[in-house]
Amino acid sequence: MIFDPTLAVVETRKVFAGEGPGTRAIFYLLSLATLVTFFAGVGLRLRKYYAGRPAAEGRFWRPSRKGEVQDVTTKPGLGAGLMKVATNKTVRRDKPSVGLAHLAVFWGFIGLFLATSILSLDYDIVRNFSRFFLGREYSFYHGPFYLAYNAVFNLAGVAAILGTAHLMGRRAAHKEPQLDYTRAFKPEAGYSRRQFRQGDWLFLWGLMTLFITGFLIQGLRIDEAHFPTFERWTWMGYLVGLAWHGVGVSAGLAAHIHPWIWWFHVLLALGFVAYIPFSKAMHMVTSPANLIVNDPANTRRLPQVPNGHSGYTELADFTPKERLAFDACTKCGRCHQVCPARTAGAPLSPRDLILDLRQWVDRQNHIPALLDREDRPDQSGPLAGETTLAGSVIASRTLWSCTTCMACVEVCPVGIEHVPTIVQMRRSLVDAGDMDPTLQSALQNIAQQGNSFGKSARMRARWTKGLDFTIPDARKEPVEFLWFVGDYASFDDRLQNLSRSVAKILHQAGVSFGILYDGERNAGNDVRRAGEEGLYEMLVEHNMAALSSANFESIFTTDPHSYNTLRNEYPAYGLEKPVRHYSELLTDLVLSGRIPVKALNKTVTYHDPCYLARYNRVMDAPRALIEALGCQLVEMPRNRTGSFCCGAGGGRIWMDDSFLEERPSENRMKEAVALGVDVFTVACPKDFAMFSDAVKTVGQEGKMVVTDIIQLLEEAFDTDRAMAMSVAQPQADGADANPGEGVSSEQGPQ
Ligand code: SF4
Ligand code: SF4
Repeated sequence: MIFDPTLAVVETRKVFAGEGPGTRAIFYLLSLATLVTFFAGVGLRLRKYYAGRPAAEGRFWRPSRKGEVQDVTTKPGLGAGLMKVATNKTVRRDKPSVGLAHLAVFWGFIGLFLATSILSLDYDIVRNFSRFFLGREYSFYHGPFYLAYNAVFNLAGVAAILGTAHLMGRRAAHKEPQLDYTRAFKPEAGYSRRQFRQGDWLFLWGLMTLFITGFLIQGLRIDEAHFPTFERWTWMGYLVGLAWHGVGVSAGLAAHIHPWIWWFHVLLALGFVAYIPFSKAMHMVTSPANLIVNDPANTRRLPQVPNGHSGYTELADFTPKERLAFDACTKCGRCHQVCPARTAGAPLSPRDLILDLRQWVDRQNHIPALLDREDRPDQSGPLAGETTLAGSVIASRTLWSCTTCMACVEVCPVGIEHVPTIVQMRRSLVDAGDMDPTLQSALQNIAQQGNSFGKSARMRARWTKGLDFTIPDARKEPVEFLWFVGDYASFDDRLQNLSRSVAKILHQAGVSFGILYDGERNAGNDVRRAGEEGLYEMLVEHNMAALSSANFESIFTTDPHSYNTLRNEYPAYGLEKPVRHYSELLTDLVLSGRIPVKALNKTVTYHDPCYLARYNRVMDAPRALIEALGCQLVEMPRNRTGSFCCGAGGGRIWMDDSFLEERPSENRMKEAVALGVDVFTVACPKDFAMFSDAVKTVGQEGKMVVTDIIQLLEEAFDTDRAMAMSVAQPQADGADANPGEGVSSEQGPQ
């Protein structure tokens, strides 16, 4: 019988068995010194965080807003954050085996920490206080509690060992490229990241040795006590004791070895605790903390420029939350792997950016880093003592390489928000005029004409000239839907046909919609992400004035970039109407039967735009539409929130990309070609432009067709049924009743 209840009420083990008062005194003195070192390190970190300038919405937190995009991985708030931490959901998400191993180490470590704390509570507090105040010593560390304690915490120890072994084995066997820490942007004078690799191994071996020596001590203790039956509850320790015995360690020898291994374990444990705040091990504290304060809406809705500042120029500009995020990075390299800029050969890796910022901020705050820093012979970059940030500590070409695709934010297991920090530094580059001439010219065009093409604002609706009906001007007559067309769909010759197709389909479906004609300006999404905050605010002001003068129930747009800012950022400027993407609207119309369609019987693949899928979680509607059109959808390996950027976002479409080894759009096109399909479907005007070019540059012109979902819908449109429907149910809207009325003009109907 393993458990004997008659013994259980009295059985326990002795703490500090065989150790004299001198040994105990040394132990407590060392423990005190360890705690002082640990809290001094934590204090340095806290001082660093609180030296940051708080964001307008608070140091770490902001209340969530109604209507914000949320799902299980993006939900902000304490409860959601704690759940992410407890379940390691974000660690498991893309790498299940790594995530499970991490979960085992995480809970195993917490279990062992709890075990030590419970023992200390009993031995140092309950026993001493009861003896002092009650005159009699009480203890709860015996009987059934003791047996359950050992059974449960043995399980924690085994889980921690297995998890750590998996992480070590993977690191040693697979040699994943992101874990050798090769930089995307290599400094001319060279660099060394040997310390990162050494720090990783020291951390893993430190943990493993701690876990193993804990069991070795238990085994010796049980061997020494001649294997009492109740200690079978200490099941792993018991097995280790049997192993000791099996290799010839008698009870007497165990008593001799025990203190040596115990001291080794104690010194290692205390050293490890003291090491935590100055090393990679600090992520055990900072990563969960960052995950709890993480708020992905910060990327969808960028922070406004702090008063009196125009972006980040100096150390003081980083908020407490950003400083915590830098410390939270575990160097896992997931962001490095998915970054389209890094993949294309641009000098940007979101991981390197965060590590550089951390090293620079720590250096300025005199925080030592033990085996957790990069070395450069010339002491440049993050090692430099200078205070200029954007353009010096972080090179301007690094900052300008970002497409703001949000892939890094999406995959980061510890909730780091790279994009808002990048944009804050871009803002100071814009102020200093440190930007690509083509970007400068696009921004000037937008400032002067309201569009990046530099065409007269009066020509914005010229694309409507080819229609045989007039689109109502929503400023002059009420409509159900206000179509915010966007620059590319309005001015790019290749895209105007698509815009006309959208208009025709909606017109044929009898949808009440209108546009703003020359009242519309660039929505400003990419202007803002390029760092031109002043121009963004001017654009919003202008568009809001036009929207306020219009009479409509909701907005839709074909451009995911406009969709993002209208949906997530314009509400701060007073926009209260719902915003939809045209894929959502068209899907509703097809599924409800208002747009009759025939099956196309095509096999297609679909590219999720970053600003639709990752930023706004619109992924099902385009797929539902494709399927409703009778197409078979073959998914690319990188799909939905894991989609790969086309390279156009964040103002990159206005910048030179000739230096890239391979454009992101070309990389993506090759992924589609490998599927064996011949139709590449998009739902974004910029994607259409980018992939129409890419299909030529990768030599697939004539083999792969780039098509917008509206073209598929146009092809599937069932004219006969539509005519039958219009005969059976005459449409009543003004445009249909008087198709020739009004003037199709860029300035709107007169
Ligand atoms: S937003 Fe995209 S391009 Fe920018 S750093 Fe992150 S992954 Fe790279
Ligand atoms: S920023 Fe996040 S994803 Fe990137 S290396 Fe650090 S922890 Fe990993």
